[in-house]
Amino acid sequence: MISLEVPQTNKSNSELGQKKRILLVEDEDLIRDMLVVALEEEGYQVLSLNNGRYALNVLQSKELDNEGFTPNLIILDLMLPEVNGLDICRLLRYQGDITPILVISAKGSETDRVLGLEVGADDYLTKPFSMRELVARCRALLRRHQYNSWSQSPVQKYRDICLFPQECRVVVRGVEANLSPKEFRLLELFMSYPRRVWSREQLIEQVWGPDFLGDTKTVDVHIRWLREKLESDPSQPEYLITVRGFGYRFG
Ligand code: CA
Repeated sequence: MISLEVPQTNKSNSELGQKKRILLVEDEDLIRDMLVVALEEEGYQVLSLNNGRYALNVLQSKELDNEGFTPNLIILDLMLPEVNGLDICRLLRYQGDITPILVISAKGSETDRVLGLEVGADDYLTKPFSMRELVARCRALLRRHQYNSWSQSPVQKYRDICLFPQECRVVVRGVEANLSPKEFRLLELFMSYPRRVWSREQLIEQVWGPDFLGDTKTVDVHIRWLREKLESDPSQPEYLITVRGFGYRFG
């Protein structure tokens, strides 16, 4: 059984006016309810779900134009209805999602623990555990992650594309894409303003700078190169869309 010990309230999580968000996926009602109480006491904003498929739906809708719940931390049970915790973990990492994951499971064997960490979980807690222990692990994971520079400017994700601004890295359908600095800056700009239409002149100004003396055709060339690296079918682009008579937009 889980201990009912509830830790002291810690207001520091909302000090900056923004609560850290935790997605909790656990199908045992009693444990889930207790975790929600303990985490909310600690000042976290918690979304709790009891089914692996629901969790994936929430996580996969983290598109730029979606106001959905983007967690700072995921607490994941392993044995879940429909989609199990290991598969969720594996899929998120495959897609380049680096949100910290704490696995909680009744499966306490060494193999399960190793497997959990191998598919990309950051920490593993075996049931039964105390609420104090769980909250301490959450706090440590969030702190560790906060010091990774990206948290100031989190990963930008749109469908199959993940862009890591601080690491100058792009992952497309789970595979690292090799972009030139200009291509990277272009994509970063597009992803920062999804669906916004940019003229060639505006793109030149933003990416090449106002002193650029070349032709605006340069933009078209770079868009073509980007499409070759991002699109499944560059002749039928789904990401970098030509807006006839105006320029380009993303998504
Ligand atoms: Ca379970």
